Amino acid sequence: MRYQLGIVGGGPAGMMAALIGDRFGIKTILIDDNPALGGQLIKQTHKFFGSKDHYCGYRGFQIGSILREEIAKSKVEVITSATVTGIYPGFILGLHHKERYQEVGCDAVIVATGAKEKFLIFENNDLPGVYGAGAVQTLMNVYGVFPGRRALMIGSGNIGLIVTYQLLQAGVEVPFLVEILPEIGGWFVHAAKIARAGTRILTSHTIISALGEEEVEGAVIAKVDDQFHPVSGSEVTIDVDLICLAVGLSPLSDLLWQVGCRMEFIPELGGYLAWHNERMETTVPGLYVAGDVAGIEEATTAMLEGKVAAISAVSHLLGPSDELSAMQREIIRELDDLRSGDFSQVVSRGLRRLYDRP
Ligand SMILES: Cc1cc2nc3c(=O)[nH]c(=O)nc-3n(C[C@H](O)[C@H](O)[C@H](O)COP(=O)(O)OP(=O)(O)OC[C@H]3O[C@@H](n4cnc5c(N)ncnc54)[C@H](O)[C@@H]3O)c2cc1C
Repeated sequence: MRYQLGIVGGGPAGMMAALIGDRFGIKTILIDDNPALGGQLIKQTHKFFGSKDHYCGYRGFQIGSILREEIAKSKVEVITSATVTGIYPGFILGLHHKERYQEVGCDAVIVATGAKEKFLIFENNDLPGVYGAGAVQTLMNVYGVFPGRRALMIGSGNIGLIVTYQLLQAGVEVPFLVEILPEIGGWFVHAAKIARAGTRILTSHTIISALGEEEVEGAVIAKVDDQFHPVSGSEVTIDVDLICLAVGLSPLSDLLWQVGCRMEFIPELGGYLAWHNERMETTVPGLYVAGDVAGIEEATTAMLEGKVAAISAVSHLLGPSDELSAMQREIIRELDDLRSGDFSQVVSRGLRRLYDRP
């Protein structure tokens, strides 16, 4: 079977890209490895900020449902529980689906595979009870499973702060959140909420070890100096059965390495990613990126990038037009506006470095 547009990854970026492709009459296939479309949105229970156009006031999982319903009404073909394992010459997507290897041919491809969680090295970090924040969100918010009784959160970026709040809402105690930097990384509003609920946020602190034989029974934390070395004598043992790591994400870029995109290391955007311009075009003609795989940000920018990538793909397939260019310019302007705030300075710096590389 051949499609004009193949989209790998059915999170906010991929779903939005598919809807744009469909709007222009492009025969589109959307492939995701989870049982349902939505990506990270399905586990996000907090309300989004921003404008009405960006689903302000809706919770992440509600945005996922809205987009899923729109896709169900469209002509987009969807394959879930299918992992794309390679992109081969002629844009043949190799996928593992229902215990079988299958191939789908496309004229253009958007890779919107999202991100993976970074891990942290410390003694006993392989004990059961040490989780990534994403896994904790999935257990609690998707499967309704209690991940522990008393948690230590590592990392004060927005994911660490939001997941701490979600743990507290679920009835899990979170006595401490430790952050190695001297300042809290995420938004004040999220930090204030968890502080009011009783979580002590310890900046310039880190985890030294997890304690326990068969599973986590405690943790040792310590202060760090200005070189981020633990300060001897400052160690404190705390009673927890869950250690939750929220120490950053990196783009899930394996397919982009494999297909031969030029890759760049941009720490501000999470690590290695495919070089792309603001139209989300990579160095492989006809192949585009969108969302966290194009640099770690958040769901609203992922949706806008999905639109931009899809418009580039439509121009490639049908030929450029004034309508497409104007529409794309407008969305790029929206992205610039969203990235103009203080909290987007790091991302904006990373994007400038990426765009400046010839
Ligand atoms: C663990 C985690 C927790 C987060 N929590 C929050 C939060 O609380 N609040 C917030 O605002 N933002 C949060 N974010 C950020 C936000 O969710 C993301 O920025 C946004 O979802 C990115 O959208 P995306 O479409 O690029 O990727 P995703 O939403 O990650 O979707 C990518 C999809 O592609 C699928 N996929 C990957 N590889 C393949 C493959 N080879 N074949 C088929 N399918 C594939 C993935 O399984 C996934 O379904 C979180 C991100 C992560 C990773």
